[in-house]
Amino acid sequence: MQFVSTRHAAPAATLSAAIAAGLAPDGGLYVPQQRPQAQRWQAQGSLARNAEAVLAPFFAGDALAPHLAALCAEAFNFPAPLRALATPGDHVLELFHGPTAAFKDFGARFLAASLAQLQRDRARPLTIVVATSGDTGAAVAAAFHRQPGIRVVVLYPDGRVSPRQAHQLGCFGDNIHALRVAGSFDDCQAMVKQALSDRELQAEVPLSSANSISLGRWLPQMSYYADAALAHHEATGEVLNLVVPTGNLGNAMAAVLARAMGLPLGQIALATNANDVLPRFFHGGGYRPLRSVATLANAMDVGAPSNFERLRWLYEEDDDALRAAFRVEAVDDAAIRELIARRHAAAGEVFCPHTATAVKLLEQLRAEGVQGHWAVAATAHPAKFESVVEPLIGRPIEVPPALSALLERPAHAEPCPPHYAALREFLLS
Ligand SMILES: *Cc1c(COP(=O)(O)O)cnc(C)c1O
Repeated sequence: MQFVSTRHAAPAATLSAAIAAGLAPDGGLYVPQQRPQAQRWQAQGSLARNAEAVLAPFFAGDALAPHLAALCAEAFNFPAPLRALATPGDHVLELFHGPTAAFKDFGARFLAASLAQLQRDRARPLTIVVATSGDTGAAVAAAFHRQPGIRVVVLYPDGRVSPRQAHQLGCFGDNIHALRVAGSFDDCQAMVKQALSDRELQAEVPLSSANSISLGRWLPQMSYYADAALAHHEATGEVLNLVVPTGNLGNAMAAVLARAMGLPLGQIALATNANDVLPRFFHGGGYRPLRSVATLANAMDVGAPSNFERLRWLYEEDDDALRAAFRVEAVDDAAIRELIARRHAAAGEVFCPHTATAVKLLEQLRAEGVQGHWAVAATAHPAKFESVVEPLIGRPIEVPPALSALLERPAHAEPCPPHYAALREFLLS
């Protein structure tokens, strides 16, 4: 299959070329040349095998196609269990059993395995540069650690990520370099953007990025929805409806694509934090990106959700059809706090602040009388956000083994001034 840009001003690309490029040359996002056709699916027995089945149509004819099974086995080597909540019919789809305890591990691992495979035929190493405000950088660092032929440089704002997040970025070593920048996340992002558009530098040092708009992260995220929906349908005969906590709309767009391919998924509702650009649009307003505001669900602090272009593409740019297809609500910090404390007190259930926005929306839907089986995408383990969650539930949260293994390693980050020249020099060294 070929891939085209959402902005229609770039040539069609193969899957491999689109994965290697990240963003399309016209600034758009890559989407499949044909919109998906709904088909019938059968459960394949494991997450990795279901991943392989749903990704196969996109890989057809590509240089990566013969490697798809191996890529899925490497990326999907930890589970995504669907667990029942205390309320009948309600579930959580736990996406946080990977090395950095957030769903981004799945996409980052698949992208890393794909890029490492593509690098095998190339003599020169590839450098991945990423700016992070926390979660993305950790997932990318973990996924690319010790991948042959690839070096990763992660920039983060010194003192503005949590101590646990900083530790996760600096604890890998080997081919992973953490730069703590004496500036803001926006400074980090501007430095990375400048590097990615510096042709002279790239003649010396081939560069790529690993941000969430990459096809190599987006497409594989369909896999856990496919796996959960097929298993649930087989066991109960019911379609699974979803609530997805949303920032850049990457994870949610993967669910939407999986549903369009005919997987047994029903309604998809989207929860945002107080950054309510999407709820405003879906409640009938225009699409107006805003500056992001800081919330407790900080990995969703997005004022211009980049994957919105993909949603519009799937709905053939018909905004009325799009508005009719989704329920989207904002959940503010006060509601996040109240929900986490109340559900723990009532049922011993513990949610991260991101997952809490979606649980809140599911409560709202149930209160309106919405029926059926529902799953909330649980995007991170609550232990990652212990400084928010522990005071609300009044007890410590046990850290999952993969995360505590990372926290026990020594960590090191290089200081870096907030200027492009310093990054350029580092990349050339
Ligand atoms: C990144 C992230 C999100 C938002 O995902 P998008 O794909 O950007 O919508 C939600 N929760 C957690 C924990 C995250 O790390």
